[in-house]
Amino acid sequence: MLNTPLNNLPGIGPRKEQILAKELGVKTFKDLLNIYPFRYIDKTQFTDIQSVKNDQDLVQFKGTISNFKEVKGKFKKRLVVQVFDKTGQIELLWFQNFKWIKESLIAGKEYVFFGRASKFGNKVSVVHPEFEKLDPSKPLKKGLEPVYHSTEKLNSNGLNQRKRKQMIAFILSKLTQNQIPEYFDKSLIEKLKLRSRFFALKNIHLPTSIADRDQAVKRLKFEELFFLQLRILYAKKYREKKIKGMAFNTVGKFFLNYFNYQIAFELTNAQKKVIKEIRKDLGSGLQMNRLLQGDVGSGKTIVALLSMLLAIDNGYQACLMAPTEILAQQHFESISEDLKGSGIYVGFLSGSVKGKTRKETLRLVQDGLIHILIGTHALLEDWVQFSKLGLAIIDEQHRFGVAQRAKLWAKSSESIPHILVMTATPIPRTMALTIYGDLDTSVIDELPPGRKAVHTVHQYDNKRPEVYHFIEREMEKGRQIYIVYPLIEESETLDLANLQQGYDKLLQRFPRPKYQISVVHGRMKPADKEAEMQRFVQKETQIMVATTVIEVGVNVPNASVMIIENAERFGLSQLHQLRGRVGRGAEQSYCILMSSYKLTNDSKERLGTMVRTNDGFEIAEVDLKLRGPGDLEGTQQSGVIDLKIASIIHDASIVEYARNLAASILNEDPHLQASQHLGLRQKLMQMNKGFKDWGRIS
Ligand code: ADP
Ligand code: MG
Repeated sequence: MLNTPLNNLPGIGPRKEQILAKELGVKTFKDLLNIYPFRYIDKTQFTDIQSVKNDQDLVQFKGTISNFKEVKGKFKKRLVVQVFDKTGQIELLWFQNFKWIKESLIAGKEYVFFGRASKFGNKVSVVHPEFEKLDPSKPLKKGLEPVYHSTEKLNSNGLNQRKRKQMIAFILSKLTQNQIPEYFDKSLIEKLKLRSRFFALKNIHLPTSIADRDQAVKRLKFEELFFLQLRILYAKKYREKKIKGMAFNTVGKFFLNYFNYQIAFELTNAQKKVIKEIRKDLGSGLQMNRLLQGDVGSGKTIVALLSMLLAIDNGYQACLMAPTEILAQQHFESISEDLKGSGIYVGFLSGSVKGKTRKETLRLVQDGLIHILIGTHALLEDWVQFSKLGLAIIDEQHRFGVAQRAKLWAKSSESIPHILVMTATPIPRTMALTIYGDLDTSVIDELPPGRKAVHTVHQYDNKRPEVYHFIEREMEKGRQIYIVYPLIEESETLDLANLQQGYDKLLQRFPRPKYQISVVHGRMKPADKEAEMQRFVQKETQIMVATTVIEVGVNVPNASVMIIENAERFGLSQLHQLRGRVGRGAEQSYCILMSSYKLTNDSKERLGTMVRTNDGFEIAEVDLKLRGPGDLEGTQQSGVIDLKIASIIHDASIVEYARNLAASILNEDPHLQASQHLGLRQKLMQMNKGFKDWGRIS
C-alpha cells in the first residue's frame, strides 16, 4: 500500500504526478507521508463573533447568514455578507466570484467560517474566508490544519494546500496499523512512553488536538535522533572491529628527544592529557579517528607535531594538511625549524608548488624519503602517494568537507592511516555527538599560562583618531598591529577598494620610513603573500593590513592589537578566530571592533558578545542561536545531518538520551540479533543501504 504510485490518488493524473515528482521528489504514498507539515493552523477553537476584534488574527467562528449586498467601492465592487451569532455580527467580504458565493451561502443557514480578521475602513471584517455548512447531524470537525512547504508550480497546478491535505487524508484513510511496522520493541515503547508509529504518522499530518500533535512530534523526533545515533555508533563499532590499525608500539628517539629537549615551554596539563590519549590510541592496534578541539591559541600544533614524531619513530610517514596556503607555509617553516638537525625530512606541497620541485617532492614522498609532508588540500590529489603513511592530521578541520577527509583514507598502500582532525571552532556537545559522532574527542580546555584575556572594545568610525593614537603608543612599545578588512566574495572589487583606501589613510597617518606596513589580500600571488607575511613575522613591518586570509592559524606572538574594520559584516566565529591572532604572547592584547552606526539587531548582538566574553563555547552557542544549526560550518556540505523534524540544538536533551540508549543497546547486543532488537536491525539496514561507506567516513 505504501509503495502505491501517486496516480492512484483521486484527481491525480500523469501530469500532476510528474509535477509532484519534480517539485517534491515524491512518487509513492510513502514519499508523500514522509513530508511533514512545517506548521499548523489552529482550528481547534471557535471564537464568538463579538470577540473578533483584532486585526490580523486568524479566527474561526460559527454564524448565520442574514443578508447579501453588492457595494460599489472606489476601485472595485465588493460583496458584503452579514453574519451573526448570539453575541454580535460581522461582515464577510469578497472581491470576486460573487456568483459562486451567492449560490453557495444560503441566508438563514449556519456555517463555520475561517479566515483572517482585517480592518476595512474602520470596521473589522473577514476577507475571503473559508466556509463550510454546519450539519447538525455530524459532529463539528475541529483540529489543526497542516501547512506544508509548497512551491509556485504546485500551487498553480491544482496542488495547493487544500489538495495536499486531501491527498494525505485519502492515504491516511487507507492506512492500517500493520502497514506501519513498529521498530521499537513493546517494552521499550512503554519505557519511553512513546505512541506508536502509526499514531505518530496520522497525527503529524491531521491531528485532532494539540496534545496529539505533540505526542506525534515527540515520537518522530525521538525516532529520528535515535536512529541517527544508532547508525553512527554502529558504524563506529564496525570500523573498530573490521579495520585494523597500525600499532605504534615504540616511543623512540625522535619523540623523546623533542619532548625532553626541544620544547621551550612546559606543556599545559590539558596538552599532556591529550597527548596521552593520542599515544594510547596509536598504540592500541586499532585505527585512530580522533577529533582534537581546542580554542585558538591553546597549542594544538605541538600536539600535532609530537604525534607525527611517534609515527616516524615507528617507521611511518605523517602528513599535516591546512586549509590555506599561508597557514600551511607557516606550519612548514616552524616545523622545519624545530626539526633542524634531527634527521627528519619535511616536505611542502600546495597548488603553488610546480614543475620540477613538485615532481621531486612527489617522488620523495612516494619513496618514503620525506617523513613529514605539510601542505594544503593539494595533498588530497590522487597523484600524491605515500610509501608508508601512518598518520594524517587535518588542521582547522571545519574548513574541510567530509568527502575531502575521506580521501585521506586511500593515501597509504599498507593500511588506513590514523586520523587526527583539529579544530578551534567550538561546537556544542550535542552537535559534536552528531557531526563527529563516530570520532573520539579530545579537548584542550586550558590556555598556556601567562596569557591575558584579550581586551575587546567596540568603536564607531568617529573614534578612529583615538584608535590610531592608541596603536601608535602600542607600536612605540614595540608591539605589532593587525588591521583586517572584510572580504565578501560577491563584491571583491569593492572590498579591495576599501582595503586600498584604508591602506592609503594609514600611510598618511603612519608615514615611512618610521613606520612600515604589510598588505596581504586574496588576489595576491601566494609567493607575494608569503613575502609580505614574512616581513611582518620578522618584525620588519609594524602593521599588517589584510583581508580575512589571515583568519586561520597565523602565529605572531608579538602582535598585540587586532583591529577589525566593518566588524558588523563578520560572523561570530570568524570574529573569534580573528581575535585569536592576538593574545599569543605575554603582553596584554586588544581587539578593536570598528563599525558604522547602522547595525542590525543581530550584528549588535554579535559585537556585544565579543566584547562580553572570550569563551569560545559561549560564543559558539550565541552563534548557533543567531544562525540556526543548519548553517553551522561543515554540516551542510557533510550531508550527515539531514533531519526532518528534530533539531540537534533545540532537542539537545533528546540527542543525549538517544545516544545513551543506542550505546547501551549496542553494548548489550552489538549485532542487534536479540529478538527484541530485530526491528532496530531492520531499520538500520534499510538506512545503511544508501550509505555503503558511511562507516569509513568520519
Ligand atoms: P592553536 O591551538 O591555535 O593552533 P598554536 O599551536 O599555534 O595554537 O599555539 C599558539 C602559541 O602558543 C604558539 O606560539 C605556541 O608556541 C605557544 N604554546 C603552545 N603551547 C604552549 C605552552 N604549553 N606554553 C607556552 N606557550 C605555548
Ligand atoms: Mg593552529
